[in-house]
Amino acid sequence: MTFFVFLLGLLIGSFLNVCIYRIPAGQSIVSPPSSCGACGHQLNFWDMMPVVNYIMNQGKCRYCKASYSIQYPLIELLNGMLYVLTFYYYGLSLNFVLYAIIISSLIVISVIDLKTQTIPDELNLFAFIITIILGAYLFKGNYLNHFYGFLFGFVLFLLIAVLTNAMGGGDIKLMGVLGLLFGLQGILFVTVFSFVYGALISLLLILAKKASRKDYIPFGPFISLAALTYILFGNAILTFYFQLILS
Ligand SMILES: [Zn+2]
Repeated sequence: MTFFVFLLGLLIGSFLNVCIYRIPAGQSIVSPPSSCGACGHQLNFWDMMPVVNYIMNQGKCRYCKASYSIQYPLIELLNGMLYVLTFYYYGLSLNFVLYAIIISSLIVISVIDLKTQTIPDELNLFAFIITIILGAYLFKGNYLNHFYGFLFGFVLFLLIAVLTNAMGGGDIKLMGVLGLLFGLQGILFVTVFSFVYGALISLLLILAKKASRKDYIPFGPFISLAALTYILFGNAILTFYFQLILS
């Protein structure tokens, strides 16, 4: 079962690469079928085997020998491994399905934000609709908490954006979606962790001279990393934290 989940993660990871490539260019993610970016040769089923194809052809196009970015197999592997971890914590459940879809969306959001400094509205809207549909069942008896989470995430980041000019519209909407998904306690967690990650990683980038204080560093990846931390380790971290204050 774990192997099947990993395989599903790889296959969906391959589709995420298509999304990352096509959504910022304003192209359809369903048609035309995938082709080599260099020679335009249409890729068949075997050419699109995640990871395996990359290794077998040493990262090159089978037809024109153009090199493919290492990003393709890395995204596939990342998505596969995160599906396995999520499956490990949530089992075969509707929660697993919801979180797997959200994690894949966050991968696409993060990479596109890193490349283009924007989070496409379609991706936030997609995550929002999935959360509404599955949440209608999963959040039963807890709707108000999730609604407050939505308000908190959206309004807090709207205020930060207005006051500091450091946050984009995409970040505000993403925090609204995650607030709806995680509820009030969860979105507080994501807020704190996103700023901790943001501060730590920005500091490391500046120390390593990969960025200067004036550089714009997109915030979407930090929000995504914080959300991932909450999905995988949120309960463990919060339990540990409360034991610490109460002891
Ligand atoms: Zn080619």
